[in-house]
Amino acid sequence: MMNNDIWSGSLHPGLDEAGTSPMRSPLLDAKVMMVDDEPLMTELIQTHLEDEGYTNFVVTNDPRQALELLKREKPGVLLLDLMMPQVSGFDLLAAMRADSELRYTPVIVLTASTGADSKLRALRLGATDFLGKPVDASELVLRVRNTLAFQQYRERQVNFDQVTGLPNERLFERAIDMLLARPEQRNGLLALFSITVPECQQLRESVDRPTANALAAVVARRLERLSGLGADAAAGLRAPDASPRVARLGEQMFGLVVDDLRDTNAVVTCAKRVLAALSEPVLLDRHEVVPVPWLGVAVAPGDGDSASTLRQSADLAATHGRRQATAQITFASPELNAQSYHRLMLGSQLRGAAQRDELRLHYQPKVDVANGHIVGVEALVRWQHPEHGLMPPGRFIPLSEELGLTSIIGEWVLEQACREVAGWARSGLREISVAVNVSKLQVVAGDLGQVVRRALFDSGLPARQLVIELTESMLMDDVPHCLGLMNDLKSIGVTLAIDDFGTGYSSLSYLKKFPLDELKIDRSFIADLPGRTTDTALVRTVIELGHSLGMTVTAEGVETDAQLACVTQLGCDTFQGFLFERPVPPQRCLELISSQAAIAC
Ligand code: C2E
Ligand code: MG
Ligand code: MG
Repeated sequence: MMNNDIWSGSLHPGLDEAGTSPMRSPLLDAKVMMVDDEPLMTELIQTHLEDEGYTNFVVTNDPRQALELLKREKPGVLLLDLMMPQVSGFDLLAAMRADSELRYTPVIVLTASTGADSKLRALRLGATDFLGKPVDASELVLRVRNTLAFQQYRERQVNFDQVTGLPNERLFERAIDMLLARPEQRNGLLALFSITVPECQQLRESVDRPTANALAAVVARRLERLSGLGADAAAGLRAPDASPRVARLGEQMFGLVVDDLRDTNAVVTCAKRVLAALSEPVLLDRHEVVPVPWLGVAVAPGDGDSASTLRQSADLAATHGRRQATAQITFASPELNAQSYHRLMLGSQLRGAAQRDELRLHYQPKVDVANGHIVGVEALVRWQHPEHGLMPPGRFIPLSEELGLTSIIGEWVLEQACREVAGWARSGLREISVAVNVSKLQVVAGDLGQVVRRALFDSGLPARQLVIELTESMLMDDVPHCLGLMNDLKSIGVTLAIDDFGTGYSSLSYLKKFPLDELKIDRSFIADLPGRTTDTALVRTVIELGHSLGMTVTAEGVETDAQLACVTQLGCDTFQGFLFERPVPPQRCLELISSQAAIAC
């Protein structure tokens, strides 16, 4: 953000003028370079400046090295002696002014000669100021401060937008190029958002410039807030660092860059969050404005490999989107556009899916290894989509979490599973358990105990028949909270299972504390059986661990006879998998269980 503190800050690093809060002028961090053939002189000047609080010095007593050093160090100000052997201060000034990189570096010329000729000559060569030798400490300090302050002011004029204080296009593009050059950038995606807020221009045309400026300032603050969100904040927006992430690119145009994004889903989520934040109404004096922003999004790698090519892609996308007036977010890549459209559409349809009776439960039998009897079923949700057909949970559960629909879907699943299985019992079927998966957000929400109580009460299903499946990552995230929740569920009489065991990280000491009844070994471990001895040894260890903690152990994803033989031999209690049956609709599941009951009779 723009720092307006150039002149106001005391040069003394201690107290401010009121003698209260410590305030250090940013000028004191400027790099001061000295070129003088007399070491005593450079030491003296450095001491004076250090007394004032300056810390950053580059010194040479050999003027032949000066040009190279200047290019490397890029100082904020150069103190240059005019009379030096081999290369004079005049020679150096002339060389600097001929160099595009060094042309605008401010130079204070140190000269014992009071001759008007040499002063004029130095001025003609572009010297910024003079300082007479012997050096007067107060004059030195003031001249250095003034020169640096003017330089910073000039840089600000060149690099920042005066209305919002945001960096301008020039600084922004330089920052993006730097981000792209960072080696770690290759790990994730970098998204560049080109954002048009037409109301900024409309307000200037229809109301006045101050009102338009006020809106631009609000947009700027909202973008800054977004860019300051930590990496964990859903979309993976990065924590702020020194490089500018937000910029004003034109009267109605802003830029935002977000890097280290996990995948294209994170880019889409980010875009939606930016759109939502900027679309909030803005109250300006007597006007309420509801901005309708247009976003163009370009992603690296893919849509460009430099700031300018990425900007071009993002701007083009934004213009295209606005012209078509179809979507407020337009991606430079056609695939991302399709993905985002699909997700947006799907999201809005998912909202009403439960009400429209489009959710279904399929059940996968859980079988006793010893006798092949179905001892329970796992309820797995599906979405009967009017166009896309039966959709598996992997395609909509994450989306439901993003959209805050977890509790609606989660409660429906619990109620439906309890209702359906209680109905089977009423129709005379023997008692079997039903396992329900819950999502992390249901665990975090804190009312799962209540939801379970209600589902059991409404359906009449005995609590002992209900199994709640939790995963390792849910449990390890907030151990005290989970422990409380699990104890509550246990007090109702519900069975608790740890699902997909082995895919997350479990601390054994915690695992011991949790009141778990069942351990389900993830199917990725079973898929390798019977194979190398290490795989078998691993599964054997997990089974022994489960048993030693008093849990029954279920193998998930058993697909072959050989796998079944292996898990049986290793001591598993129950199994699920395509070998016995895939998840099936309730009617088919009922038939399966009934046919076993008939055999048993
Ligand atoms: P999960 O709880 O581990 O469920 C088992 C998944 O493995 C199911 O996929 C099932 O179809 C699949 N599966 C079963 N046997 C085999 C096999 O032999 N081979 C292979 N390759 N796969 C097998 P599904 O139904 O797609 O569910 C995926 C995941 O979605 C579930 O994993 C669970 O984590 C989640 N899920 C399902 N229903 C719900 C729900 O109602 N709520 C929540 N929060 N998550 C759910
Ligand atoms: Mg499960
Ligand atoms: Mg599982």
